[in-house]
Amino acid sequence: MKVFTDNEKKEYRNIWVVAEVLSGEIQPVTHELIGAARTLADVRKSEVWVVVMGSGIEKTSELLFSYGADVAIIVDNPSLFGFIDETETKIMKRLIKKYKPEIVICGATTRGRSLIPRIAVMNYSGLTADCTGLSIDSDNGDLLQTRPAFGGNIMATIRSSNHRPQMATVRPRVMKSPEPDPSRTGRMIKEKMIPGDSTKTKNIIDIFHNTETAVNLADAQIIISGGRGMKGPEGFKLLKQFAKRVGGAAVGASRAAVDSGWIPYAHQVGQTGQTVQTKVYIACGISGQIQHLVGMQSCDLIIAIDKNSDTPMMQIADIAVVGDLFEIIPEVIKEIANL
Ligand SMILES: Cc1cc2nc3c(=O)[nH]c(=O)nc-3n(C[C@H](O)[C@H](O)[C@H](O)COP(=O)(O)OP(=O)(O)OC[C@H]3O[C@@H](n4cnc5c(N)ncnc54)[C@H](O)[C@@H]3O)c2cc1C
Repeated sequence: MKVFTDNEKKEYRNIWVVAEVLSGEIQPVTHELIGAARTLADVRKSEVWVVVMGSGIEKTSELLFSYGADVAIIVDNPSLFGFIDETETKIMKRLIKKYKPEIVICGATTRGRSLIPRIAVMNYSGLTADCTGLSIDSDNGDLLQTRPAFGGNIMATIRSSNHRPQMATVRPRVMKSPEPDPSRTGRMIKEKMIPGDSTKTKNIIDIFHNTETAVNLADAQIIISGGRGMKGPEGFKLLKQFAKRVGGAAVGASRAAVDSGWIPYAHQVGQTGQTVQTKVYIACGISGQIQHLVGMQSCDLIIAIDKNSDTPMMQIADIAVVGDLFEIIPEVIKEIANL
């Protein structure tokens, strides 16, 4: 791979955020990333640009300036309502070639994790996934990308010095969202799709529009998660009732439950699923193997229900309830109804 000279690197300017768009709505992780990008751009004396790809997103994109964006590139097209990673990758490749950003960051969400590695490969860029901290070397513009490694036992800081743009994904709720300032304004650039952007791919990743599978674990305040202890899809119906009764809770799952086909992958929490940082995480029949714990151990309050008191999940839980979940959960649902 070609190593950029210092002069070639200087052609690349500004910090880009790829907006997380779900059913035409820009998601809060975008604001968090703009806050982080603002700090980096101020060090580099450059600008924060946000790329918004979606359908009917122009109006909502104007709000991005209040969070600290200087420029919003809008690609507004009905075919972008669903998420097709191949199409968005082609658009991003074109935009990067045209505008030459120094850094591109994106949410470490289901969508971001699917999209950004493709963009990185197409541009020969280094990519650091799941960063929990970003800073910049003010001398040469190297992005210092900090992320947990070896199961969270050490924090590694990674540079991708040889190439531009540098790319990173950042976990939702790690960066603080800035207070919006309604008086801030910015420039909007409208980019059109070209025929080559479309893809013949039939396998559209459309999890966001399917009401059966729609789930946004990253933004939930409370997650009620089920594991192999739920015994089957019927067990997850009980969890959905529980979540509904609690109000606004999302349903999560262990990989064992997802692999058994009891609930779609979009609900999976853990190393190969989503990382969540909710106020409350209720683990029902999940033993808490390390691959699950890394995805939820930063939640504020962890409640575990398991018939075995010795599991890793029961050990890390703030509240551990020992017993048969098929007796406990219906009782809790009944009690909440009586409140
Ligand atoms: C590379 C790799 C990546 C992985 N990624 C992930 C990931 O992202 N997410 C993930 O979750 N896993 C992941 N795994 C799998 C992980 O190692 C575990 O196999 C999985 O998390 C176990 O799921 P579980 O806790 O639901 O099942 P189990 O370990 O079988 O636990 C079931 C629990 O339910 C309890 N139970 C059973 N019946 C009842 C009852 N009636 N009442 C109360 N409690 C009951 C049991 O006591 C037990 O503690 C990964 C594995 C690998 C190798």
